[in-house]
Amino acid sequence: MVVPLLNEEPNLVELKTRLDAVLPTVADRYEIVFIDDGSRDGSFGTLRELHDLDPEHTRIVRFRRNFGKSAALAAGFDHSRFDIVLTMDADLQDVPEEIPKMIEKLEKGSDLVSAWRVNRNDPISKTLPSKVYNFVTRLLTGVRLHDFNCGFKAYRRSVLDELQVYGERHRYIPVLASYRGFRIGEVQVNHQPRLRGKSKFGWERYFGGFFSLLTVIMLVRYTNKPLHFFGFVGVVTLSIGTAIDVYLSVLWLIFRRPLSDRPILMLGTLLIIIGIQFLFFGLLAEMIAFSARRDNDYSIVERVDVVADVAPVRIPAAVE
Ligand code: UDP
Ligand code: MG
Repeated sequence: MVVPLLNEEPNLVELKTRLDAVLPTVADRYEIVFIDDGSRDGSFGTLRELHDLDPEHTRIVRFRRNFGKSAALAAGFDHSRFDIVLTMDADLQDVPEEIPKMIEKLEKGSDLVSAWRVNRNDPISKTLPSKVYNFVTRLLTGVRLHDFNCGFKAYRRSVLDELQVYGERHRYIPVLASYRGFRIGEVQVNHQPRLRGKSKFGWERYFGGFFSLLTVIMLVRYTNKPLHFFGFVGVVTLSIGTAIDVYLSVLWLIFRRPLSDRPILMLGTLLIIIGIQFLFFGLLAEMIAFSARRDNDYSIVERVDVVADVAPVRIPAAVE
C-alpha cells in the first residue's frame, strides 16, 4: 500500500485505522508506505507515532521538500516490497473499504486496476473539467477508462517494474501501461467529500495535465523514431513551400511576371525554411534518442525456451 501525502495531518490516524481493518482481510502480510511529500504541518510527527505504534506494518519515506505527487508515487513504488501494490490518496476521499473490490478485480486477470469515482463528491469546478479531460484522454489514447486521474489504483509488480513515473505522468500511468500491453481493469467505487485539510491542486492542473498528455502520446509513439514525426511535418511544409515557389518561378521565368507584388513568395520561402528546420529537428532527435535509449521497445510477459536434442546451451544468468 503506497500513500503519497502533503499536509494531511488531520486525516492520517483515521486512514491508518481503517486500512488496518481492511488490509488483513485481503492479504496475510501487508505494509503501508507513507510518502511525506515535504509536508509543513505535523504530518511527519503523526506518521512517526503511527510507526512507533505499529512498526511492522508502517514505513515512512520523507522528502526533503515538496516534489509532487508523481515523485511521491515513484518513491513509494521503489520502497514497497510486495507483489501487489495499491495506491491511495491520504485525504480519505477514496474509501479504504473498497480495497477488496480492487484486489478481486486484479485477481480476475488485470495487471492494473483503476478506480472509477462514479459519484464524485467534489465541487463542479473540479468534476466538469475532469469529465472533459477524461473524454479527451479516452479519445486521444484509445484507452477505455472513465477516471484516469483517480489516485486509487492496484498494480501488479510487473507493471511498476516497467514504468517510469515523473513530472505529471502519474495521471497517465494506465495509458503508459496499456501501451505496453498490460491488461487494465476498472472498478466503480464510492467517493467521499474532503472532510479535513485542503485540496492541493487548483485549476492549473488541467494545463499541466494537457501538456503531459501530449508528452505521453509523443513519447509512446515516437521516442524511438522521432524523425517519423518531425520528418512528416517537415516534408509536408517543405512540399507546400516548394510548390508555391515553383509556381512563382514558372510565372517569372516563362511569363515574365514580376514577383515584387507577390506576398505569397514570402510564405513559400518561409515554409521551405521551416520544413528544412523540421527535418533537422527530427535528425537531431534521432541522435538524442540513439544516445539516451533506456526503455525497451517491447514488453515480455513470459519466455519459453525449448532446447531439445541439441548440445546444452549455456544461458547467462543475467542478460543485461
Ligand atoms: N499530494 C502529494 N503531493 C503533492 C500534492 C498532493 O503527495 O504535491 C497528495 C495529497 O496529500 C493527497 C493526494 O496527493 O493525498 C491527492 O491530493 P488532493 O486530495 O489534494 O487532490 P484532489 O483530491 O483535490 O484531486
Ligand atoms: Mg482529494
